[in-house]
Amino acid sequence: MAIKREEFKCRGNSWKLSSGMTQLQRIAIAPSQIQQQQITLTSEQQHYLYRVLRLQQGDRFIAMDGIGKWWLAQLAGSKAKILQTLTVETELPIAVTLIIALPKGNAFDEVVRCCTELGVSCIFPIVSARTLVNPSPQKLERWRRIAKEAAEQSERAVVPVILEPVSFSSSMSFASNQKYICEARGHYPHLLSCLQDKEKLPNHQGQKTMAIALGPEGGWTDKEIESAIHAGFQPVSLGKRILRAVTAPIVALSLVAATCEV
Ligand code: SAM
Repeated sequence: MAIKREEFKCRGNSWKLSSGMTQLQRIAIAPSQIQQQQITLTSEQQHYLYRVLRLQQGDRFIAMDGIGKWWLAQLAGSKAKILQTLTVETELPIAVTLIIALPKGNAFDEVVRCCTELGVSCIFPIVSARTLVNPSPQKLERWRRIAKEAAEQSERAVVPVILEPVSFSSSMSFASNQKYICEARGHYPHLLSCLQDKEKLPNHQGQKTMAIALGPEGGWTDKEIESAIHAGFQPVSLGKRILRAVTAPIVALSLVAATCEV
């Protein structure tokens, strides 16, 4: 799969992705796989590139390290030669962490997938008073794989971090410039009106950060809302309707993305 020169735009020492390159396959690699302008491919990656995608020796693809870097690479046996560094500008200007009480069944898979597409930086699964599931280590691996695939698909530069599940109380010490807790009932300001007050946005260690907490199917207990307020979280509404535990994080993140990107 050859790429024409005009498909890139030069920007400093790196090249910016243009629409012609969107046909190229993207795969996430670990930064440790790169040595002297070459990527040593794992057997799983070789299988995926040669057998699943049916690429051949000399074909090009995009390698992403999941922490902000993309490269144009060319297949050469069990390795890939790095041809160019690419510039990707698909990240939100604010690092958003979603603190989410685990929903029932496999619903969290959908939350991870959609929120990765929408630009989340970190997902922090928690077990709250009304959480009905007990997460297994295999689930964490699965969510991390889903985040990686969704980041590749949505052309993210960064693969979101999925933290290990902790209790509600442990998550309350999470440090961030702005902290919101979404509550389906009560008279709280809409998240959108809080976000529009952009001037309030301070920097946390040089970066704009935000944490948004979302409850499980049964909602938060009064005690949890009280401790969140005590920990610096502002309770907010996402509108007059009760959203499902899967829908609420997607709505919250869409509001953040729209506010800071438009
Ligand atoms: N069973 C709860 C009740 O009846 O109040 C509703 C829980 S809702 C299915 C799951 C979570 O989504 C809530 O804890 C909250 O964090 C969020 N949520 C849903 N709708 C919301 C809304 N309109 N405003 C703010 N948060 C909402």
